[in-house]
Amino acid sequence: MIYLDNAATTCVAKEAFEAMKPFFCEQYSNPSAVYCFAGDSMKAVDKARKSLADLIGAQPNEIYFTAGGSESDNWAVKAAAEAGKAKGKHIITSTIEHHAVLHTCQYLEKQGYEVTYVNVDENGMIKLEELKAAIRPDTILITIMAANNEIGTIQPLEEIGTLARENGILFHTDAVQAYGHIPLNVEELKIDLLSASGHKFHGPKGVGFLYIRKGVRIGSYIHGGAQERARRAGTLNTPGIVGMGAAAELVMDKLKENMQKEIELRDYFIQRVLEEIPYSRLNGDAKRRLPGNVNFCFRFIEGESLLILLDQQGICASSGSACTSGSLDPSHVLLAIGLPHEIAHGSLRFTLSAENTKEEIDFTVDALKKIVERLRSMSPLYEDFIKQKSK
Ligand SMILES: *Cc1c(COP(=O)(O)O)cnc(C)c1O
Repeated sequence: MIYLDNAATTCVAKEAFEAMKPFFCEQYSNPSAVYCFAGDSMKAVDKARKSLADLIGAQPNEIYFTAGGSESDNWAVKAAAEAGKAKGKHIITSTIEHHAVLHTCQYLEKQGYEVTYVNVDENGMIKLEELKAAIRPDTILITIMAANNEIGTIQPLEEIGTLARENGILFHTDAVQAYGHIPLNVEELKIDLLSASGHKFHGPKGVGFLYIRKGVRIGSYIHGGAQERARRAGTLNTPGIVGMGAAAELVMDKLKENMQKEIELRDYFIQRVLEEIPYSRLNGDAKRRLPGNVNFCFRFIEGESLLILLDQQGICASSGSACTSGSLDPSHVLLAIGLPHEIAHGSLRFTLSAENTKEEIDFTVDALKKIVERLRSMSPLYEDFIKQKSK
């Protein structure tokens, strides 16, 4: 099997798994209890909290554990909306956000909030002028993702953060794809709220965190006990938190090295496909993109058929986000960068990790070439196109 779907989820790092193990059958105490047996669990949680904070230049007491990226996004957006409603009910986001943000914004619209969806350019970069123009006296939140999960485009966070801060508006970023993959510093980027998820950077699934900058007053999302300084109730997921913390520690040592490996593989992959497969196109910004992200369109064919044939060769890829596959609508991200429906349908995403090899990429490109050729040979659209061309 060749796994090229790391934006959907990643393999838990061996070190992270080893770190988690004692917290199931041996050190199983509830970290919030008073006895010494619980103290050891809390120490492990605190160590993880510090590692996770260090990676983005935050303080440990600004990290609030959640059950993953979707919960962090829901919490940030809904609680910021609630907290800001005395000032105004206007929120700014982009057209290419993950559904955890987009659907939350749509929910808020039903509650009487107004949302502006700022457009992106053909590479998926937010239009800063449009964002600036969208700011109003009643704007209370700007939520723009750090990097896109489909096309990998990295947004100008510092510019957005500066605009937000100058205007007294909270800035939330969904950094689920970026955290652990590119350098991020919440101080430099002027981020107030940041979502991350363990399973997107070689930690376990079902655990994540929300960074809430000190002094930012937003309410609780899960009500109950006093865990997480009474801001997020529920018994802490000790093994999950420890595993996610260990994954962050690994990144700390190897971020540059991982990035370099991925960028080399990514650019080699892109170059081979664009050179060797006619009528293929790279989606997303060529430079400002996640190190592991590759996203192509192949004209005259369906992404879904490509995926099935790749799967038969043992290659795991995706036609967009795992959350939308299964629906026949083309990706909202590809439509937002201006691709027509029929081209957006022929898209394919490969997301690499530093563990992938050049041999795997070669195997994949070779398979892809044959599959594209075969599908096109059966495509009436392609046949017409070739006839037109030769006239
Ligand atoms: C995966 C993902 C999420 C959701 O995270 P979960 O931990 O799976 O809930 C949110 N935003 C982005 C950009 C993602 O890639």
